[in-house]
Amino acid sequence: MQTKSKGISIVFIPSRGRTKILRVSPLFIYLLCVSLFTLLFFSFQFFSRLHQVKLNYIAVSSFSEEEKQQLLSEELSVMQDTLTEINTIHQSNKDMTSGIANMDQETRKKLSLRENKYQYAVNTKNQRLSSVNLTLNPTAIYELKDAVSIQNQSLKGITRNLEIYSLAVNDFIAEQKKMPIGYPYGNAYNISPGFGWRRHPVFGTPDFHTGVDISVPYGHGLKATGDGRVVEAGWNGGYGYMIRIYHRNGIESLYAHCSELLVNVGDTVRRGDIIAKAGHSGTATESHVHYEIIYNNVKVDPEEVNRAIEKARAR
Ligand SMILES: [Zn+2]
Repeated sequence: MQTKSKGISIVFIPSRGRTKILRVSPLFIYLLCVSLFTLLFFSFQFFSRLHQVKLNYIAVSSFSEEEKQQLLSEELSVMQDTLTEINTIHQSNKDMTSGIANMDQETRKKLSLRENKYQYAVNTKNQRLSSVNLTLNPTAIYELKDAVSIQNQSLKGITRNLEIYSLAVNDFIAEQKKMPIGYPYGNAYNISPGFGWRRHPVFGTPDFHTGVDISVPYGHGLKATGDGRVVEAGWNGGYGYMIRIYHRNGIESLYAHCSELLVNVGDTVRRGDIIAKAGHSGTATESHVHYEIIYNNVKVDPEEVNRAIEKARAR
């Protein structure tokens, strides 16, 4: 009985019957104490944690709702901006496409080329992109934006090339207009005599005819055969009253035996402008125009020049 003295004895004394004695070992008491303490500790931990979670939940659930709305509206606003941007680029693409078509038509008209069969196909219906028609799918919208931007870049390239081409065509046409073409009056059938050796109509001696003579009724207008600048306008011996026009690259045209001059030195003239009136001033028997083409100070046959031009044009 001595060994059990370290423990605790619990004595039950009921109002009736026998008294009961429960012996409890020290290990049991120790375990009980540890268990109680652990339970108490974890309970406290649990409840304080639960409280924290509750607080957090309240805070998070109320805050995140607002934040969610805010985020959504921000996202929506970004999407709307992107759509607006796409629409702007799309509109500019449409404008560019019609600009390209116009430029193409104009250039073709200038060069007397056939109309382009290629269609600058842009649906002319009002193709405004609407956020309503699109599922609000950010990936699709950014892909669309990329596609529209790439189209924009390529259209810009085409526009730039066409502008350069158009400028080149304008230069080419301007240069073409500076070439003396045709005759100041009538056509090749009115020429007598032509360029080359002949017997001089007044002196009866062999004479090199440096131009072509075209019969023109007295006082009738003489046309400039190409765009250029008047470099001589006045009396010049046997030529009588004459005009000389500088065209380009050493090419000049000359109109002699006029009765009246209508332009002055320094004037700019265009092909077809009436520059003088026909007559028989200087060494001439009847009213006609003596027409010359001069290339680098050498007189050349106007008929040959015109034939060469016709040949080149037919190509
Ligand atoms: Zn002549």
